Amino acid sequence: MIGGGQLARMTHQAAIALGQTLRVLASGPDESAAQVTPDVVIGSHTDLDALRQAAAGASALTFDHEHVPTEHLEKLVAEGVTVNPPPQALIHAQDKLLMRRKLHGLGAPVPRFAEVTSVADVEEFVRQIDGPVVIKTVRGGYDGKGVVMADDLAAAREVVAGYLADGVPVLAEERVAMRRELAALVARSPFGQGAAWPVVETVQRDGICVEAYAPAPGLSDELGSAAQELGLRLANELGVVGVLAVELFETVDGRLLVNELAMRPHNSGHWTMDGAVTSQFEQHLRAVLDYPLGDTSAIAPAAVMANVLGAPQTPTMSMDERLHHLFARIPDAKVHLYGKGERPGRKLGHVNIIGADMDELRERAVRAAHWLSHGEWTDGWDEHAGK
Ligand code: ADP
Repeated sequence: MIGGGQLARMTHQAAIALGQTLRVLASGPDESAAQVTPDVVIGSHTDLDALRQAAAGASALTFDHEHVPTEHLEKLVAEGVTVNPPPQALIHAQDKLLMRRKLHGLGAPVPRFAEVTSVADVEEFVRQIDGPVVIKTVRGGYDGKGVVMADDLAAAREVVAGYLADGVPVLAEERVAMRRELAALVARSPFGQGAAWPVVETVQRDGICVEAYAPAPGLSDELGSAAQELGLRLANELGVVGVLAVELFETVDGRLLVNELAMRPHNSGHWTMDGAVTSQFEQHLRAVLDYPLGDTSAIAPAAVMANVLGAPQTPTMSMDERLHHLFARIPDAKVHLYGKGERPGRKLGHVNIIGADMDELRERAVRAAHWLSHGEWTDGWDEHAGK
């Protein structure tokens, strides 16, 4: 797996059960996955020789992020490496303009968009949309980086001029009036088998996914099935092998629009580790290695995932002690920590809680994650007095 972050770390965890060892290409020995797998290659994902070294003798090559240059991957494929997802699919998770065009061509619903190569282009687009727009860098965005909201023409002009002056290609999109964000997570194997998990609602703060609710509360069967079918169809049409996350907007008038694609395990699927028969990490491996896919059913009526993000001020209490107190209070919280140093806003781990009542789970999962992040109970609980 190229990339040594938390996704690789959790994929390794699934690989162990399958009798596999996940080799990772990590940028350093301290990275999340490099800490846990015995087979680490240190190097850069943009270095062809490092990629070759990581691929040597492996059954297949896959990714924990989408930033590997496709020309390198084409070379590896030509040299006989099984690259899953293949570069011609992966490119749609790297290049937002190409993705928008491809999806539009396939008849998949997307926000109105335009390529922007000059300030005049964005002026024309804003005139057309007659409302707020979003400027996005074509490449290199993640966790909201490279996404700027522009409320009016003046703001759009300024943002675009800044990017273009730096030589950064951008596109513009209409700002979607949305009810909420959803994610349709599916997997596809080289054999062509497809599997879809229940559609989830995700909550984003500052462009970062902070919570996920599975299944998406109140989602009609009709819209849920439409989202799953769309995910499976896109996986097929794009030739994805592995997990595909289709990030969606549910508009205020009840339509679905595709925001983004990710071809790897995804934050919106972390709940599957404790809430589904087959986790996204195991499924990704099954797909990449061309095993039959696993059952994607939920094992409880509801699951909530809450991310543990680094607090603005790192608590003086150690994470270990915070964990003790958390387990004392919320014994059914399932905690997954990524072995990272605490820094403001950094994804340090997540908490899953499964059960029957979504509202109750949400309250406890969010409280648990906040406790681990901040060392503070949102309801004033005193962990030493136990009340
Ligand atoms: P990234 O590549 O960083 O994940 P996204 O394209 O997913 O960036 O955008 C990050 C967040 O910005 C989205 O989750 C959503 O909340 C908001 N956003 C992106 N595009 C739009 C849009 N067209 N309309 C409204 N909000 C948007």
